[in-house]
Amino acid sequence: TSFTSLPLSAAMQANLAQLGYHDMTPIQAASLPLALQGHDLIAQAQTGSGKTAAFGLALLQRLDAGRFDVQALVLCPTRELADQVCQELRRLARAADNIKILSLCGGSPFKPQAESLQFGAHIVVGTPGRLMDHVERGTLALGAIQTLVLDEADRMLDMGFIDDIAKLIRQLPKQRQTLLFSATYPDGIAALAQKFLREPKEVRL
Ligand code: AMP
Repeated sequence: TSFTSLPLSAAMQANLAQLGYHDMTPIQAASLPLALQGHDLIAQAQTGSGKTAAFGLALLQRLDAGRFDVQALVLCPTRELADQVCQELRRLARAADNIKILSLCGGSPFKPQAESLQFGAHIVVGTPGRLMDHVERGTLALGAIQTLVLDEADRMLDMGFIDDIAKLIRQLPKQRQTLLFSATYPDGIAALAQKFLREPKEVRL
């Protein structure tokens, strides 16, 4: 199926064509119509499946670049994944003006991250521990988040991030869209979804 079947802006359609994205990947075809309608999702997706655009187009559609607060939060298990996600979101965001995307991960110095946050960001991608640090130290405010993405959620649980994830989610507005992507579906994922997603649609391939 082509991206042209989706309710995306003309600018985003043009950008996708320029990126050489014509047909949706299976995960995109299954999840984007639901995500763009605003549903919460539990989606089974592997690396390389095109999952970043599956959640990226949904969160970008809702973003208001004229407001200078963090409106979307993407939690990732590792810095490598967070950087990849950031790169792909920046490609997708070229269709809109001046959307700022920051990657905030452990293992990098805290202070430059805090300074970047002061200049404002619309989308924050990062690892749960460091994001929690920013929240606790008052450098990251979560009150305007509209979209939460849990990327490779099974790996985040394996790495022991559950407490940080739960703490972060409790700080988010109740009124939001939550998109959970996971390659596998162990009990921990079901529990997480049960607790933090609202009437999620399940996408399994
Ligand atoms: P991801 O699984 O999100 O890491 O994406 C894997 C790669 O596929 C990335 O390099 C994307 O730029 C690319 N990609 C994602 N969606 C499409 C698409 N519909 N058509 C062509 N390439 C895509």
